[in-house]
Amino acid sequence: MNIHEYQAKRLLHEYGAPIASGVAVYSAEQAEEWAARLPGPLYVVKSQIHAGGRGKGRFKELGPDAKGGVRLAHSVAEVVANVREMLGSTLVTKQTGPAGKQVNRLYIEDGADIERELYLSVLVDRTVGRVAFVVSTEGGMDIETVAEESPEKIVTLAIDPDQGVTRKDGVKLADALKLEGVAREDSLKLFPVLYKAFVEKDMSLLEINPLIVMPNGHVRVLDAKVSFDNNALFRHPDIAALRDLSEEDPKEIEASKHDLAYVALDGNIGCMVNGAGLAMATMDIIKLYGAEPANFLDVGGGASEEKVKAAFKIITADPQVKGILVNIFGGIMRCDVIAEGVVAAVKEVGLKVPLVVRLEGTNVELGKKILDNSGLNVISADDLDDAAQKIVAAVKGA
Ligand code: ADP
Ligand code: MG
Repeated sequence: MNIHEYQAKRLLHEYGAPIASGVAVYSAEQAEEWAARLPGPLYVVKSQIHAGGRGKGRFKELGPDAKGGVRLAHSVAEVVANVREMLGSTLVTKQTGPAGKQVNRLYIEDGADIERELYLSVLVDRTVGRVAFVVSTEGGMDIETVAEESPEKIVTLAIDPDQGVTRKDGVKLADALKLEGVAREDSLKLFPVLYKAFVEKDMSLLEINPLIVMPNGHVRVLDAKVSFDNNALFRHPDIAALRDLSEEDPKEIEASKHDLAYVALDGNIGCMVNGAGLAMATMDIIKLYGAEPANFLDVGGGASEEKVKAAFKIITADPQVKGILVNIFGGIMRCDVIAEGVVAAVKEVGLKVPLVVRLEGTNVELGKKILDNSGLNVISADDLDDAAQKIVAAVKGA
């Protein structure tokens, strides 16, 4: 789960990280009232969407010459004018994809004098099985270019979970960031604070880009992007409450209500599969035969007919889907339950695209019989290879 920049900053501030004062607003009226309470004379108006690259992003409705998704303002009046322009508009950044995201909240922040922009993130480094810091002196809006063209400027340091961030770790990170004097002292306090927040809140990513050094030497968290491990959300109701459903795919929200492991993708073949491994293999083989999956979906073991029905309805409701592949290897999951679920869903919502079904395992004969007797126009397949070829052919022929 992702949260907005202002929420991430509030959270990090509770742990003691230095941030600027700021307010989140949903209207120009709120902006006028609240911006006046900020110190000024420089203000920054920041689009709150779950995607980075806002500074260099462009608003669809405003034309190529309009300013981006992070704007400086020199008076409250200027703040309000920007808020009026930005609110409700669609911001397209490198990370949103061409459709962009509608801006429904803005964060108005005290403007900072920036001497240096650094990059710092904390993440789970799976290669070493540890939480690691990734830092670079080349922070700011072009970190992706740095990663591509001069990767040696990016330094990674894994943290020993028994020790936490030691003084030695801190010194290594401060050296890598070329921090001296006050900034160095600030950073040596900041690293353990970030690590503590990361671990205690079960984050999967904490990215600060930029972490700035100001002319007075102090450092400040100027941007913050935080993601949490969904599997641990149950123990953080305070974090779960920050979820912004307007940022999520409606199909994924519906799926999460039914406890389905579902991820929306860009292709046109809808997949209903049991088991994450088989779901991955199904997506791979669809690609192998030259098409793209519209989703990842694992209905899980022991799913009820109701759950299968819900899953099938989510897939068919997607206008992108031009064909459906049901690929089930029944172990705990029984093929007849899958068949009943599919038939029940089609009765309710109809079926306008080709459907290929490959069933194998527990109660396979019964499952096939249910589909045969349903009068549904099902293309049956013998194995995974056959199934993938059939659905790709059906979609391309259509
Ligand atoms: P994004 O990464 O989505 O583009 P950032 O929050 O990093 O958004 O903002 C982009 C740039 O805007 C920063 O690199 C920084 O130069 C400038 N900026 C952001 N917040 C402030 C602020 N409070 N004061 C001054 N400049 C800011
Ligand atoms: Mg940034």
